[in-house]
Amino acid sequence: MDRALLEQAVAAAGEPAYRHSQVWEWLARGARSYEEMTNLPAPLRQRLEETVSLSTLTVKAEAKSDDGTVKTLFETADGRPLEAVLMRYRDGRRSVCLSSQSGCPLTCTFCATGRMKFGRNLSVDEILDQALHFRRLEQIDHVVFMGMGEPTMNIDNVLAACGLLPDLGVTNRRTAISTVGWVPGIDRIAGCERPLSLALSLHAPNDGLRSRLMPVNDRYPLAAVLAACERYRERRRRRVFVEYVMLDGVNDLPEHARELAELLDPRGYKVNLIPYNPTGAYDGSSPERIERFRAILSEHRLTATVRLTRGRDIDAACGQLAANAS
Ligand code: SAH
Repeated sequence: MDRALLEQAVAAAGEPAYRHSQVWEWLARGARSYEEMTNLPAPLRQRLEETVSLSTLTVKAEAKSDDGTVKTLFETADGRPLEAVLMRYRDGRRSVCLSSQSGCPLTCTFCATGRMKFGRNLSVDEILDQALHFRRLEQIDHVVFMGMGEPTMNIDNVLAACGLLPDLGVTNRRTAISTVGWVPGIDRIAGCERPLSLALSLHAPNDGLRSRLMPVNDRYPLAAVLAACERYRERRRRRVFVEYVMLDGVNDLPEHARELAELLDPRGYKVNLIPYNPTGAYDGSSPERIERFRAILSEHRLTATVRLTRGRDIDAACGQLAANAS
């Protein structure tokens, strides 16, 4: 919802300012229409219905996976595409994956979003409207900024959105920001007052390979990125989640696992091995190779889990839906 427009409309209707807080509370609890907002005067509801749309985004496509994952392709008012995903887990957890930008200015070679044209940063309202869309389906309790875009390059809006997510039932501890390792962004997350989780997309244990996979590594090489993660750890007293996408024959060899174990202090990092959702550029590692990699890390006492693949049948990997629709 365009909250500035809502405030204006409430004022123009001669209603007190607390009315827009009431609207927000309804939205945050999953209201699907003004109709439901029964503590607002009927004429105001009517007026808002006509002047302030419930969302800044329109739904262009929605795909539902057999495993319950829902992926939605949205469009902004100025026609920019973006995607968000609701992941449903058997233990009842409901996690929403949000986009922070339409497209992405970075060009990671394995990522479908990286091959799209960069659009722009999303506004706070556009970020929240993705979460509100799924909140209208059911309760949500986790948010990850692992959709399109690099959240640390839109950090003001991302942090402002995080400030309102608790109204939707998602605490900051259950909100994770994932980054390619954009050092000033990591420092902002470490320095802000919110106990947000930090996830680092590492994907390679040395600069040579990492620069090949992620050109941003030339700007912020491994040593600088890990030093920033250490500052986060010191300040927050929390481990950093490391994401490592498993590319067959590229970064999944035993020597890569050993090198990674040497690079990361097991007390400070938890590794999440991500089965690759093929988008053309690489082949994904087989489950056996992923398990071999995981076993080597755990021999070195580095905790590693293999991420559950969700929504593979609906192109749920970063950027895939938008790429196919265009
Ligand atoms: N720009 C941020 C957040 C968006 S991507 C970042 O890079 O962390 C979220 C995660 O999905 C990243 O770890 C990214 O490397 C990974 N990813 C991208 N494309 C993927 C694919 N096709 N299969 C599996 N993971 C992918």
